[in-house]
Amino acid sequence: MAKIGILGCDSTTRQMNCVMIGCFGNLRERKGSFVDYPKEDPLDLVGIIHCGGCPTAVGADRIWQKVQALVDYGIDTLHLTSCLVQICPFKEDFLKTIKEEFPSLKIVQGTHPFHDEAAFKAGVRELVSQRAVTPQRMNDLVFKRIKVTTPEDEDKA
Ligand code: SF4
Repeated sequence: MAKIGILGCDSTTRQMNCVMIGCFGNLRERKGSFVDYPKEDPLDLVGIIHCGGCPTAVGADRIWQKVQALVDYGIDTLHLTSCLVQICPFKEDFLKTIKEEFPSLKIVQGTHPFHDEAAFKAGVRELVSQRAVTPQRMNDLVFKRIKVTTPEDEDKA
């Protein structure tokens, strides 16, 4: 039995509300980056953890704690989510640290099939910056410019 842990990107889940449906769906169906597991080998998803957010100057110094939390439950393989692999500027630092700290852990880069990288990055940039559709903020309420829905709007919806 493969005992799998997943290390994901904090930003895509917390800021962009990704529910990891692509990661789980591919694991369930043994597609994407789960395709190489032998058919007769049951896949046991032990747990999921996220990087903790863009670490800037401290780089990969805390990633070991995240992975340790999964290793404590006996994972033998760690998948980095495909979003982390494609957009994370700290990926190589993370990999170096994880390999040094956990030399016997098998690391797989990816979960679901990879996106077109340029389009994915452009989409993520928009989700983070919210320029095309600017969300309302507390200042809109404070400065009395907030747009509110009316019961009529709700009837139309
Ligand atoms: S971009 Fe990298 S460091 Fe930043 S939240 Fe995502 S995985 Fe974590």
